[in-house]
Amino acid sequence: MEIIKDPCLFQRQCLGWRLQGLATALVPTMGFFHHGHLSLMDFARQNADRVAVSLFVNPTQFGPAEDLAAYPRDLDRDARLAAEHGADILFTPGPEAMYAPGHCTWIEVPDLARGLCGRTRPGHFRGVATVVAKLFMLALPGLAVFGEKDWQQLAIIRRMAKDLNMPVEVVGRPTVREPDGLAMSSRNAYLSPGQRLRAAAIHRGLVDLAVRAAGGETDPAVLLGGLRRYYAENLAEADIEYLEIVDPETLEPLDLIRGPALAAAALRLGPARLIDNISIGV
Ligand code: AMP
Repeated sequence: MEIIKDPCLFQRQCLGWRLQGLATALVPTMGFFHHGHLSLMDFARQNADRVAVSLFVNPTQFGPAEDLAAYPRDLDRDARLAAEHGADILFTPGPEAMYAPGHCTWIEVPDLARGLCGRTRPGHFRGVATVVAKLFMLALPGLAVFGEKDWQQLAIIRRMAKDLNMPVEVVGRPTVREPDGLAMSSRNAYLSPGQRLRAAAIHRGLVDLAVRAAGGETDPAVLLGGLRRYYAENLAEADIEYLEIVDPETLEPLDLIRGPALAAAALRLGPARLIDNISIGV
């Protein structure tokens, strides 16, 4: 595996693959790999001729009061894991290489970025969409792999690729969880041992909601009321940012569940902001 920092070199290498007729899969990440990231790399390896993994802690998707400086990093370990999971290139640009002075072009997908995480993280998805578009232009992938844990991000990238006729298939992969159900996240590293144990309640509450939905409850207000009570009883220390049931594609809140739906949660537990979701409905 080659580690490349320079965007021009990275693009030249990926363009070379494309000209040889080799299909490239791209896995965009912010590093500090866990099994969620690795599952995306494994999928990419099985479905393309060449695999490029990007590791870039993208400053434009962090708000001024967010954890950009504290975001966990371990390049040596990440490089070893990416190589073990079949990456051909690990692309690790610095912020000044990705955002040259004068950079002023942005991608926005406002209808999908307004709700859920967008409400408390203004500008976040603009940063995400822009950096992913830039990575697509550099890597020229036929396939790009993202995790369903960040469902809103996945919906936005899908929409962007469709709206802008990007020649890339965007694939979403299932959330990889710890044995107790907590969704793997680089930010779980912020949790104290006690918080880490109690954080499993996030997923358990969502599973409980999905069971009630499968049992015939179709009123989101009733389901979300139950979820709120569950968290009050099992995770009282957490601040709930949102609990919502939305259409999985448009991300619009539903007032009745008639078909596929997504229950999504964002909570603050100590220093960590944690998100999770579960598919419900038909
Ligand atoms: P991040 O490094 O957190 O920006 O994540 C990079 C990619 O990994 C994104 O597509 C995430 O959705 C995905 N990802 C993060 N956590 C998980 C997980 N637990 N299971 C599957 N994919 C994940």
